[in-house]
Amino acid sequence: MTLALTGHAVASGIAIGRTHLAKRSELQIAEYRIERKDVGKEIARYHQAVDAARRQLDELSQRITRNVGIPAGEIIQTHVLMLGDDSIKEATEKQIRSELCNAEWALQSQLELILSEFRAMDDPYIRSRGEDISQVVRLVQRKMTQKSAGKPFENIPGRLAETMVIAADLTPGELAILHEHGVAGIVTEHGGPHSHTAILASSLGIPAVLGVRLAQSLLREGEPLVLDGDLGLVYADPDEVILSHYHQVQRDTVRFRKSLEKVRELPCRSMDGESISLQANGERQEELLQAIDLGVTGIGLYRTEFLHIQGMASDEKTQLAEYMAAIKTLNGLPLTIRTLDLGADKPADSADFDQLSRSANPALGLRAVRLCLRDTDQFKQQLRAILRASATAPVRCLIPMLTSAREVMMVRSLLDEAREELDESGLAYDPNLPLGGMIEVPAAALAIEEFSENLDFISVGTNDLLQYMLAADRADEQVAHLYDLQHPGVVRLLRHIFRSAEASHIPVAVCGEVAGDRRYTRLLLALGLREFSMHPSRLLEVKQVITETHIPRVAASLSQWLSSTECQHDISLLQLLDQSQQTH
Ligand code: PEP
Ligand code: MG
Repeated sequence: MTLALTGHAVASGIAIGRTHLAKRSELQIAEYRIERKDVGKEIARYHQAVDAARRQLDELSQRITRNVGIPAGEIIQTHVLMLGDDSIKEATEKQIRSELCNAEWALQSQLELILSEFRAMDDPYIRSRGEDISQVVRLVQRKMTQKSAGKPFENIPGRLAETMVIAADLTPGELAILHEHGVAGIVTEHGGPHSHTAILASSLGIPAVLGVRLAQSLLREGEPLVLDGDLGLVYADPDEVILSHYHQVQRDTVRFRKSLEKVRELPCRSMDGESISLQANGERQEELLQAIDLGVTGIGLYRTEFLHIQGMASDEKTQLAEYMAAIKTLNGLPLTIRTLDLGADKPADSADFDQLSRSANPALGLRAVRLCLRDTDQFKQQLRAILRASATAPVRCLIPMLTSAREVMMVRSLLDEAREELDESGLAYDPNLPLGGMIEVPAAALAIEEFSENLDFISVGTNDLLQYMLAADRADEQVAHLYDLQHPGVVRLLRHIFRSAEASHIPVAVCGEVAGDRRYTRLLLALGLREFSMHPSRLLEVKQVITETHIPRVAASLSQWLSSTECQHDISLLQLLDQSQQTH
């Protein structure tokens, strides 16, 4: 009989095959006393284990970078960085010295302290970082106990083709090893959508469902399994109906991918001949290269939080070097650099921003430009770096989370100060650097004319705009059903934004996730959007819908929908727009 289980859909794709239950080699952490004279030796043993763990992760990261790409390797590197964390190291050494206990035990006590702090955090993203720390600590402990060092599971076969591994949890390093063995899909009992394992599974293209409760107890070794990484579903012993449905989905996916190749060379024009600008959101070199390859008109959103989130230095020089690397890759294509958008869902490790943790409600607190305007010295370093980058290539500066038009004036005056400082130092910049603002706050969207006067372009951040309009946290799956672009209030507000921007002759783009979601392309076109910025992986899908859309037809259907007083229960707005396309 078929058994259906659910979990978090974290990496899309369908896998069909058989299960393999990965049994982790048990790690028993013993506690014993050491003599005072042996403290030095014990600390050296601990250091050796950390070094061995680092070497193992470094080698793995290099291999993964070579075979899969830099982003995948960087995820493993985050664990290498954690290994270098001095606070855990110092506390562990102190405990060895003061309690004369063995290093594994001291490390375990430190881990438990850290985990209890993480468990108390409200933010699921930060909580999930606790998983990363335990995974790294476990690796070091394995090195010390010499138990199956470097071999996380007792029983992994050499080849895992058509095999889905079912594990209690998986570290990114373990997942990378399974990938090298050709694993077809992943199911874990623990781990959430924000975990590094989830992000890695997605960049490696391994269909994955995480957080399936009791998966290891409910699934049997070797039984047939279907894994739906798009819906977060797992079917054990699937019946014929399920199997043939998923075989069909797999065939459709292959056909769909092939059909996308055909639109690659086409101009990005709607059926009625309107040219649409496609830009990309991206920071990493691979993303930029992929975007160029697919013919984008520029980078519409280059987020700059990654330096802070990774705890890297964020002085003017470091920031400028990052921007210059992107500019070099882009080879003349415009780059829209967004100033720091830290806070809420983007917490920083950096102590520079310790105000962040004080907010009771971070999404409504001191985040993004609000935070930057608090610490203008730090902010000016970024503005100077952006200005200096603009000397060599077409660069635009974008301010996130604008609430009041006063904030634009404050940024403008800081830019003036930064220019003066650069003049004094004889450093070049583009005196006409375009300044844009992100519309993410509903009140700013309603008062858009006031912003347009002092901005050169607008980018609508629908990820945040929707969460604030619908009072539904963008990261909380429990209210995900309310987070809906088709809500009449959202539709009306977006129409207002695009119409006002057009009347003010100011270019407007959307760079939130909906811009790259083909289900919404027709709605955005009907609303008047002509500039889309999205992750490069979505460009062809969206372009295909654009080339198959007659804008006046979908616009007429939308106007009809907006003016109809009856609630249309039987058909959604998106279905209505698709139908209006097909009936002609
Ligand atoms: C948005 O809010 O739509 C956006 C693009 O910014 P971020 O997702 O980085 O908050
Ligand atoms: Mg945002």
